[in-house]
This record gives sequence, structure tokens and C-alpha cells, in this order.
Amino acid sequence: MIPYSRQDISQEDIDAVVDVLKSDFLTQGPLVPLFENKVKSHVESKYAVAVNSSTSALHIACLSLNLGPGDWLWTSPITFVASANCGLFCGANVDFVDIDPRTFNICPQALEEKLIAAEKEGTLPKILVAVHLCGQSCEMDSLYSLCQKYDVKIIEDASHAIGGKYKQQFIGNCRFSDITVFSFHPVKIITTGEGGMAVTNDEDLAKKMSLLRSHGITRDEHLMTHASDGPWYYQQIELGFNYRMTDIQAALGVSQMQRLDEFVSKRNMLASRYDRLLSKLPIITPWRHPDNYSAMHLYVIRLKLNGKNKTHLDVFKSLRKAGLMVNVHYIPIHTQPYYQRNGFAGVHFKEAERYYQEAISLPIFNRLTYSQQDKVIKLLHQVLE
Ligand SMILES: *Cc1c(COP(=O)(O)O)cnc(C)c1O
Repeated sequence: MIPYSRQDISQEDIDAVVDVLKSDFLTQGPLVPLFENKVKSHVESKYAVAVNSSTSALHIACLSLNLGPGDWLWTSPITFVASANCGLFCGANVDFVDIDPRTFNICPQALEEKLIAAEKEGTLPKILVAVHLCGQSCEMDSLYSLCQKYDVKIIEDASHAIGGKYKQQFIGNCRFSDITVFSFHPVKIITTGEGGMAVTNDEDLAKKMSLLRSHGITRDEHLMTHASDGPWYYQQIELGFNYRMTDIQAALGVSQMQRLDEFVSKRNMLASRYDRLLSKLPIITPWRHPDNYSAMHLYVIRLKLNGKNKTHLDVFKSLRKAGLMVNVHYIPIHTQPYYQRNGFAGVHFKEAERYYQEAISLPIFNRLTYSQQDKVIKLLHQVLE
């Protein structure tokens, strides 16, 4: 069986985790700040806040930007549900902007048209969550100038995209956004088991997110309403959560960061091999925008089965039957029953729905061997020819 994605854990990674297990601190020790420093210096952001998942990072990112009831958050319909749910967690309304069929990311023209309409209706969003699907950055210069014009904050959901670049610079430097979030789930580029991080260049946002990650509690006397009662004293000054990352997880993250560039270049090598060896099939291989160096989290092909007496489901089932754990990323969020019950019945996003009819994610990960990849390629030829 060949999965679509899989972690790569080395002996060094294991040793790093074992060292923490033998140390004084399993959580809230020195490894979390070390991991934060590694990530922020790699992506060239000023601040980093490690948390227990990217979902948590999205939640505290929205709260720190003061998203609340009556506000709107917009994102892509083609993403994991967490990119939209973070708006609902804050009591805000969520809506979607259709995708560009070539990049699978939010379409700048669709965004512009929707902003113009929303301005007339007085329903402009407070936040746009720009999802870098498959590891390829959105067209951030266009999204940024539109969001500047309409006073919309940007969160980059870079859960797929650590190690990728946009216009020669690492995704996460927040040049075109307020906050960027990463995921370290085992299927993503690097892993901490579960884990996430929010990076930003804004000191106030970083402070707010740090507070929210741990119950809204501070030990910093400058933030307290009166002088400290004594060495034991802390104050709860916001309503926060327990979204902390452990030192066990951070140790794995620090160790994995050493191989980030290697992981991303291997994924790009595998992707160009797919591009070349699948070029004769009735599919569209993923187009890469010239502004991008994709982290290549996913390699999504779109089936073009016109005239073939086979469906997307037939092809998917044949691949699964042959031991390929292909997948579909993603089911358009507005078609999920929860969203259907909450305002999206009868609402359509044409390009997103068309994408869903055609998309299949092929295996791509650091430990995928060329002979395994050849097997995937051979199978696709058998199924599609
Ligand atoms: C995986 C993922 C998330 C959620 O990440 P977790 O760390 O599992 O919470 C959010 N957005 C996107 C686009 C993802 O792929």
C-alpha cells in the first residue's frame, strides 16, 4: 500500500524526543521557544507562537484580530474545514470566494467582484483566510492590494506550505499578511505529531496570541491591573485556552526543521517526474505559477474523461483497489451538511464544484521511492488508457 502522504522520522528525530522524555520538562521547557526561533528565523518573521494544532493557531489568530459576532470571514471553499471553522468559533459569519481553476487557490478576480458587491451591501469581511493549497502560494500581491483597499486583514493558511516560496521569499515572512499559520500534522511537510504555529511581524498580535494559547494568563507585571501579590501570583486578563505545544512535540519539530529544505526539494523532484511521465494521459497536471516555489504538499491531478466511459469514482476505486491510497483534497466546504444547514443550501461555487468532480491527490512524500512512483505512473496508464 502506498499512502498519499507520510511522515519521515529519522533516528535523530527519535533521539531528540527521547532526550526530552529524560529531562525535567515535558512541557513549558526550553524546546518550545527553541522551535519557535528555528521556524521564525527560517521563514524570516519577527514573532512565532507554537500551539497544539494549526486549527488552534487559526482560532487565536482570528481572536487576536478581534473577529467576533457580526463580522465576516472569507476563505476558499477548497480547503480543510478548519480554515473556515475558525470564523465560526469566534461567532462570526463565514463566506467563500471561488477558486482559480489553474492554481486551485482563491481567484483574485472573484475576490474583487465579491468585495465590490459586499461594499454595497455593507457586508465587507474583517478577515480573508488565504489558503496556499498543495503548498503553492496564493497570488498574494493581488490579494494584498485588494484587501488594503477594502481594509480586510489577511491570515495565510500555510498548513501545506512551510518551506515554499513566493517571489523568491519564504512563505511565512508575512510581507502580504497579518499572520501566517503552519500545521505539523504527520501528513504535512514537517511534523510534531500534532502541532501548529502562528507567525507574525506585529508585536501586539504575537502577545495577544501568546496569552490566548494559555488561558489568557500572564505573569508579566506590566500587564497586570495592580502590583503582583508575590512570586506565586498571576492574573487572567483574557479568556484563553490550553492550546500549548509540549516540549516533546517541539523537540521533534526542531529536529525535523533541519531537513525541511531537503523534504521540499525531494517533493519538487517527485513532482517534476510526475509532470514528465504523466504528460500523455487525459489529465491536467498541477500548474505552477511562475511566482512560486511550491512546498508540494499535494500533487493533485484533474481528470479529463470526456469521451471515456469511466467516471472520477471509477478511476479512484481502481487506484485504491491496486493499493494506492489516493485521496481527494478537498470536498467543497459549503457542501458539508453543517454548512448546508447554516445558510449554504442552494449556494454554488462553480469552479470549486467542478474541481471536486475531477481532482485526485497522488502519493507524494519524502520517502516515496522512484520505483514506488513508477508503480503509481504505470497504474495510472493502465486505468486511464
Ligand atoms: C491540516 C490543515 C489544517 C488543520 O491543521 P491541524 O494542525 O490538523 O489542526 C488547516 N488548514 C489546512 C489547509 C490544512 O490542510
